[in-house]
Amino acid sequence: MYAYICPDCGCYLDPGERCDCGEEREREKEKSAEILKMLKVEKSGQMKIEFKEAI
Ligand SMILES: [Zn+2]
Repeated sequence: MYAYICPDCGCYLDPGERCDCGEEREREKEKSAEILKMLKVEKSGQMKIEFKEAI
């Protein structure tokens, strides 16, 4: 029987194991922040996505 269950996603963990679902969520947050940074509203009101030149 597993004693360790992630309080966030409910998956079973080994003793001492840390679930990475929190990290995954952080990464998602960063990703959407990056996309928001690329989004620019032009004076005409049109949204424009500016992609970084160097990826
Ligand atoms: Zn989890």
